[in-house]
Amino acid sequence: AGSGKFFVGGNWKCNGTKDSISKLVADLNSAKLEPDVDVVVAPPFLYIDQVKSSLTDRIEISAQNSWVGKGGAFTGEISAEQLKDIGCKWVVLGHSERRHIIGEKDEFIGKKAAYALGQGLGVIACIGELLEEREAGKTFDVCFQQLKAYADAVPSWDNIVIAYEPVWAIGTGKVATPQQAQEVHVALRDWLKKNVSEEVASKTRIIYGGSVNGGNSAELAKQEDIDGFLVGGASLKGPEFATIVNSVT
Ligand code: PEP
Repeated sequence: AGSGKFFVGGNWKCNGTKDSISKLVADLNSAKLEPDVDVVVAPPFLYIDQVKSSLTDRIEISAQNSWVGKGGAFTGEISAEQLKDIGCKWVVLGHSERRHIIGEKDEFIGKKAAYALGQGLGVIACIGELLEEREAGKTFDVCFQQLKAYADAVPSWDNIVIAYEPVWAIGTGKVATPQQAQEVHVALRDWLKKNVSEEVASKTRIIYGGSVNGGNSAELAKQEDIDGFLVGGASLKGPEFATIVNSVT
């Protein structure tokens, strides 16, 4: 971990019921969490209100997506204004499932990030290469292109956390090695230094996601440029998520 405050987000994706979520919230409320870590969970939209009213204030709430502009006649969408209204502090944007299953494109994601920031939300800005892109030696190119789309759109990096999530590692149990993750994080920081500013490069937290669990998080957290994690599957288990939060010490 670097000098910025460690950041751990739990992406619950499209999982849970009222009952299972109240159990997860109870487990999180009773977990011992290191004080010097930003902890955020992203429930499905439907359950944000339930989580907001039952979860300890120690943990902030994120949405998993938001609409690209002001709300209105956009059937099925949720606006950044509505997320603010309901007490969300963050939104996850550019997740690989939205890029590759739903088909969201770089420019659209960049616009979403700019709009959400403008409404006062923090953005967890996801990027990451597919397996075939890694095997073709295109990891840096792909990540830089996705990062550039955010950089071109956002007015400031103050409220952005970058999540590097290699697609081949998401939900597969195939975690990147600490060296593989560190190598990309360094390259991303270097890109920010050359293309945004030295200050943004040193201050922006770059977190890793992709099959992080209670057994591998401590080794990953030792890497100089890994400033936290975005956790999918393992964030559905309160005690294991707490272990990941606490892995920085
Ligand atoms: C994710 O979806 O952001 C993620 C990292 O998932 P998992 O931890 O399940 O690989």
